[in-house]
Amino acid sequence: MAVRKVTVIGAGTMGSGIAQVCAQTGWETRLYDAFSDSLDKGFSSINDFWMKGISRGKNSEEDVKAWSRRLLRSDDMKEALEGVDLVIEAVPEKIELKKAIFVEIEKFAPKDAILATNTSGLRISEIASATNCPERVVGMHFFNPVPLMELLEIIEHDLVSEETLEQTIEIGKAMGKTTIVVGDIPGFATSRLGVVLGNEAIRMLAEGVASASDIDTAMKLGYRHPMGPLELSDLVGLDVRRDILNNLAESFGDPSYLPHPLLEKLVQSGDLGKKTGRGIYTWDKDGKSDRDDL
Ligand code: NAD
Repeated sequence: MAVRKVTVIGAGTMGSGIAQVCAQTGWETRLYDAFSDSLDKGFSSINDFWMKGISRGKNSEEDVKAWSRRLLRSDDMKEALEGVDLVIEAVPEKIELKKAIFVEIEKFAPKDAILATNTSGLRISEIASATNCPERVVGMHFFNPVPLMELLEIIEHDLVSEETLEQTIEIGKAMGKTTIVVGDIPGFATSRLGVVLGNEAIRMLAEGVASASDIDTAMKLGYRHPMGPLELSDLVGLDVRRDILNNLAESFGDPSYLPHPLLEKLVQSGDLGKKTGRGIYTWDKDGKSDRDDL
């Protein structure tokens, strides 16, 4: 199957990045969200990325014009899904929400479209169980920021067809990603380790082991991590990480995955990380700084 049209559902951190890369790949791309302010924010972050690319000589104005022409905005799910070959869902990490969205997607998308979810760790088979076409449902787990991160985790499950899996690998390659195929075990090969490391680093911060920036420096210089676990948590979004930890604790029936109370407290205060300007660090245009109230 040659992809021509793609729809991305959810215009947040991930959905906007995924739609950006789809448009850059040459596909007619629709970015749908239920909230118009989310669409405004998503389009403005894509535009900022492209404008920075021009000023840094990474892409031309002509590139941006062509990409923008291929990237359409939609607040009507039925219209957004007309005639598409591929749908990628990127709404919040809540199983009931994702299942409800997949019921809608199945209703409006063509009968041969691939239906992918960008879940960070939920079982794909459970999301697929909301549809009558689990053979077309697959996991496509991208990383943040999507235009820059090379990995794409593709998640199979018992009912996905060989054809869907092979086509998804081809789609990932066309988007310039290196793909790995992973089994349908919550947290896959990435999130499970990533969130445990981040949660433990938050526990260490709460216990006063070191400052946030020193914990991050320890892992960067001592273990060659390109980014520390606390700055990465802020970049991903503390709400996103909290949800993944809660899902893992529930899926494995293991309370050791539960989010540390400090993580929960930050989320409850609306300090969600870089996207809100405050999380474990305070973020502004010059970068991040340690908070003295944690
Ligand atoms: P986000 O909160 O930035 O974006 C979610 C978007 O979904 C928002 O724009 C919101 O308006 C929209 N939305 C909410 N309800 C909706 C509905 N009913 N219909 C349509 N749109 C709706 O979240 P995110 O960080 O982009 O995460 C999205 C998904 O991607 C989650 O499953 C998350 O686990 C996964 N993920 C996140 C990261 C990351 O680094 N943030 C990385 C990989 C995967």
